[in-house]
Amino acid sequence: MASRVIPVDPFDLVIFGGTGDLARRKIFPALFRRFVAGQIEGDVRLIGAARSEMDRAAYRAMVRAAIAEFGGEEARRKKDLAAFLDLLDYVMVDARGTAGWSDLAGKMRKDRIRAFYFSVAPALFGDLAKRLHKHGMADAASRIVVEKPFGRDLETARDLNRVLARHFEERQIYRIDHYLGKETVQNLMAIRFGNVLFEPLWNSQYVDHIQITVAESVGVGGRGDYYDKSGAMRDMVQNHMMQLLCLIAMEPPAKFDPDAVRDEKLKVIRALDPVKGADVVRGQYEAQEDKPDYRVQVDNPESTTESFVALKVHISNWRWAGTPFYLRTGKRLRERASEIAVVFKDAPHSIFGPEAGRHRNILTIKLQPNEGIELGVTIKEPGPGGMRLIDVPLDMTFAEALGPEEADFPDAYERLIMDVIRGNQTLFMRGDEVEAAWAWTDPVIAEWEDEGAAPLPYASGSSGPDDALMLMHRDGRRWREIRP
Ligand code: NAD
Repeated sequence: MASRVIPVDPFDLVIFGGTGDLARRKIFPALFRRFVAGQIEGDVRLIGAARSEMDRAAYRAMVRAAIAEFGGEEARRKKDLAAFLDLLDYVMVDARGTAGWSDLAGKMRKDRIRAFYFSVAPALFGDLAKRLHKHGMADAASRIVVEKPFGRDLETARDLNRVLARHFEERQIYRIDHYLGKETVQNLMAIRFGNVLFEPLWNSQYVDHIQITVAESVGVGGRGDYYDKSGAMRDMVQNHMMQLLCLIAMEPPAKFDPDAVRDEKLKVIRALDPVKGADVVRGQYEAQEDKPDYRVQVDNPESTTESFVALKVHISNWRWAGTPFYLRTGKRLRERASEIAVVFKDAPHSIFGPEAGRHRNILTIKLQPNEGIELGVTIKEPGPGGMRLIDVPLDMTFAEALGPEEADFPDAYERLIMDVIRGNQTLFMRGDEVEAAWAWTDPVIAEWEDEGAAPLPYASGSSGPDDALMLMHRDGRRWREIRP
């Protein structure tokens, strides 16, 4: 089955922060893969804009090296790479000063889509928006892409929204949450709303509970300074996990259109109950063999920032009243594994008697390291010996059904950047969604900060603090094992 790639319209893309880590690791490799796939073709220009002085040749060499390092298999396609590098240009621009802005404006072409990727520190977003406007680049054909973090609380997120709104309309602002660009996350919507099978069961009558796990095996690494001011709640829960929760819990939108989908997500966030003391567990990882503990890694011996959080969350609406959502995320856990598990209720009566054991259907949406969807069903164990039941996965990983080429999912950034060019905001967060998510998160964080309480220590390589296990046990439930 050959995939259909529809080329996007010609565009100019300016990447502010085009020499930075994100540009090199994600943005350029993603653009290159879309170029190889034939989605970017013709008269397209990719313009790096950053603080360093360098000419076009040096910039191309930098991007070439980045693609060689992070571009995967495609990077070996030398002819494609040379043609891709031809699309590149570079301008030295100071986001806070005057240098470079007239040069940049001079390179823009009026008759095409213009996108500006703000891959710089959020403190510079306002400066960039202001200068784009001043130099005549913030017109109706332009759009901006902003990276996370979008604020650190409700107040700063509001400020950021206000600053951007001075020069751009909401329909021009693309707030990235790369989880939404994952193929399987989009497939979650296809599975829910494209099949008659699941939706009737998708409520508290049939769903016992839902677990969302985003586990990382690495520590904070070189991001210690940023992370220590943020913590798991701000870095993962307010954005990525909240988005996953919304897609799982939302009502069917009338259409797959940006505002219809985002209206439904917003309703979920607004229906979240405040989380209370015993329903939140915070943790901080301890040392492991040669790996230092959290406080040493962030160089802050007094740090009370959490590297792990687990929560029990209730959505107070007709569909979900009575079905808890358990969320957990952390660093230095046993494995790198992210998944959503929809755990259905027991059959109302077992005709096979107690010896058949307890069996439940579980729909698992695996996000990383391997993307795929699995439905656990109960069948008879083959062979003689009576009616013994076992659970087997109905694997919907698609590789076999679609062939390896189709199952080679594009990276989230590939999808999202192409959506920016296509002008499709469905997979981007709207300003009011981000604010609502902070409005829910803020009181939880404020309580910790008021108390000044230290998070619970947990062993590196474990599944987090024991209290997180208790969060489930006291409800007679269990976390699923963290495994890829
Ligand atoms: P980085 O520090 O590696 O790069 C920063 C870039 O900004 C450089 O190109 C630098 O030249 C440019 N810059 C700095 N000051 C400037 C100025 N005054 N004028 C013009 N350009 C200036 O940062 P990064 O890791 O690439 O992160 C960029 C953005 O992406 C940040 O908002 C970050 O939070 C976000 N982000 C990064 C990652 C990641 O994995 N690196 C992941 C998620 C989000």
